[in-house]
Amino acid sequence: MSLIVQKFGGTSVGDAERIRTVADYVARTRRAGNDVVVVVSAMGKTTDELIRLADDVSGVQPPREYDMLVSSGERISTSLLSMALAEQGVVAASFTGSQAGILTDTDHTRAKILEVRADRLRDALSAGTVPVVAGFQGVSTERDVTTLGRGGSDTTAVALAAVLGADACEIYTDVTGVFSADPRVVPEAHRLPRISFEEMLEIAATGGRVLQLRSVEFARNHHVPLHVRSSFTWEPGTWVVEEEESMEQAVVTAVTHDTSEAKVTVAGVPDRPGVAALLFRALADRSVNVDMIVQNTSLHGTTDISFTVPRVDLAASVEVTSGLAGELGSTGVTSDDDVARVSVIGAGMKSHPGVTATMFETLARAGINIDMISTSTIRISCMVRAGEVERAVRVLHEAFDLA
Ligand code: ADP
Ligand code: ASP
Ligand code: MG
Repeated sequence: MSLIVQKFGGTSVGDAERIRTVADYVARTRRAGNDVVVVVSAMGKTTDELIRLADDVSGVQPPREYDMLVSSGERISTSLLSMALAEQGVVAASFTGSQAGILTDTDHTRAKILEVRADRLRDALSAGTVPVVAGFQGVSTERDVTTLGRGGSDTTAVALAAVLGADACEIYTDVTGVFSADPRVVPEAHRLPRISFEEMLEIAATGGRVLQLRSVEFARNHHVPLHVRSSFTWEPGTWVVEEEESMEQAVVTAVTHDTSEAKVTVAGVPDRPGVAALLFRALADRSVNVDMIVQNTSLHGTTDISFTVPRVDLAASVEVTSGLAGELGSTGVTSDDDVARVSVIGAGMKSHPGVTATMFETLARAGINIDMISTSTIRISCMVRAGEVERAVRVLHEAFDLA
């Protein structure tokens, strides 16, 4: 008998019929002799709607209250799915993140899981019950409800799979797996039957939202077998596997894009030791995750520093940076949220020179200007105008023959 964690995303439980379809599938998995733990997201666009509602109600949103609000969507899905399972004759019980023993730090809206005290889930499993757990949430060391960042139900599922020693963690979504590009932007993109953790981390970190980045990190660290697949066709999808198991290394595996970042420029700072340290320590202290950083060569002893941050952190970043402008000796801080990032990813890049050149040539031919560049051993990212990013993905997908 296997233990399988099955996670269903928002679209997968988007309405009553979808919830019944999912219940039917879980029931069949159970009848086939498996133990199942289910993790669900909020129905459809519920989380977005709750966030919009909060924006309509108040410009002041204490993070504790924000988490209390947005975590409620998942709670609805767990109870409804448990009822649908009951109708199928399957004994199921809903659990909030807190009831499931998911203990987090106190960093509201992007809390990290510290520990999973899974006794209640284990008891439920031994009693033959299917636990249906609310994704995306936990309870902090201060006993407040927390959420794990957008897309966080993936991380809930992987964390439960790790702590329960599940044989597989299945992430059911609205596409049939991980593709060579977002299939909504590149219809010719192809599904990857297997992908290495290394590449999946880069895809998740650069906008391929099919798996939350933290879930991939967690799965890799705890050796959780991860299978991304469709809750519409139920066909086998993409296995995320250890490097050595993956197929021969393609030079470029996927092209991703990310429209969730913005750029901040600190102009005219003196080119001397300590300036960058002061700036980025202050941002780190506000929990801002800085991504690309570019510092121009100095002219007459001063330089500009540009960096990107998550768009949701733009206001805080500008506030922190402007507050430091005097101390930094800067002539001014500007921001730009009309930017987006396009990235090409492939483990084979390590041993194949020329990918960067092909990427730049392709963008140049398409008349797309590159604003900033960053690289890792298996990724090249370029900042471009937001309005051009989807075209950039398409021309690169074609240039690297990924169709
Ligand atoms: P869920 O609600 O099931 O968690 P998400 O919307 O979070 O689903 O993630 C699935 C979506 O991720 C797909 O609908 C697809 O548009 C998008 N996506 C972006 N990049 C990729 C990719 N490389 N492969 C597959 N899907 C991708
Ligand atoms: N409902 C949450 C979100 O929309 C979590 C998730 O779907 O994974 O971000
Ligand atoms: Mg998701």
